[in-house]
Amino acid sequence: MSSSPSAPASSTAVSVPVTRFAPSPTGYLHLGHAYSARFAWAAARASGGRFLLRIEDIDRTRCRPEFTEALIDDLRFLGLSWDGEVRVQSAHRAEYADVLDALQAQALVYPCFCTRAEIASEIRQAETAPHDLPAPEPVSPSGLPVPQVGRLYPGTCRRLSRDEADARIAHGQSYALRLDSTRALERAQTLASRPLVFYDRRFGEVPVTLSHVGDVVLGRKEVRASYHVAVTLDDQLQGVTLVTRGEDLFHATHIHRVLQTLFGWREPEYAHHPLLTDSHGERLAKRRGSPSLRSLRNEGRSAAEIWALAGLPPLA
Ligand code: GLU
Repeated sequence: MSSSPSAPASSTAVSVPVTRFAPSPTGYLHLGHAYSARFAWAAARASGGRFLLRIEDIDRTRCRPEFTEALIDDLRFLGLSWDGEVRVQSAHRAEYADVLDALQAQALVYPCFCTRAEIASEIRQAETAPHDLPAPEPVSPSGLPVPQVGRLYPGTCRRLSRDEADARIAHGQSYALRLDSTRALERAQTLASRPLVFYDRRFGEVPVTLSHVGDVVLGRKEVRASYHVAVTLDDQLQGVTLVTRGEDLFHATHIHRVLQTLFGWREPEYAHHPLLTDSHGERLAKRRGSPSLRSLRNEGRSAAEIWALAGLPPLA
């Protein structure tokens, strides 16, 4: 595709791993983030590689600059250091819009004008019809429920004619840009000349499917970017060779492999790590009230004590 960068911005020897920690500054980091950052850092440092920091702040409504400052300060407090410039996604919006334009030019994304209520009603109707929508598949090999994957979009606007869609856009109607998942996967398989897979250090070779995400939203009228587009482009531009992240994002990797293949981008290796849990087996997440790194620091905990809470030894 025309807008695709064909080579990473910085040239990196193939044998040297490049990893990254890519938090979204929607709040203070918690122990799960510290674990994830350390995981990426250790994977790079163990073999003389590079560890990058990227700020994933394209969602203007949820991200705040003070959380970016705080997370950088917390990571430094913990003794983590990163290589090169910090990439801040909000400074690269035009690049993500180019990716969406290229997908749109190939008819691999389409505008969807449905409201949430319309989608819910379509799904209810489809469930009472003889041909039910396929049930979402479990996508985490260790059986972790993946909360982001809800009911699949029933494809209503995929069936709109080009003229109808153009007319609605001309009338100023809001829309999301959805991936035509069937067409995109087929195109990617054709380009790859074989069924797509990704390689995960923990789970081995994983066949790519989009049946668990369906026609996922890749952008919106006002925001021509999304997590999937931005993360895939950035990993390519930054020369990331090993993508490490929590298992809760396992489902997203399928989408990313399809995008990488469509654009002819390098295939990174993956390592989806387990999520930290508390003594009751509950996932540590800020919305469940687990302490932030900030509050642990305010209590006077040292970096070594915080690492111990994350189940890790102090940094040497
Ligand atoms: N920004 C994502 C998050 O904070 C992580 C993205 C990734 O590692 O791919 O959950």
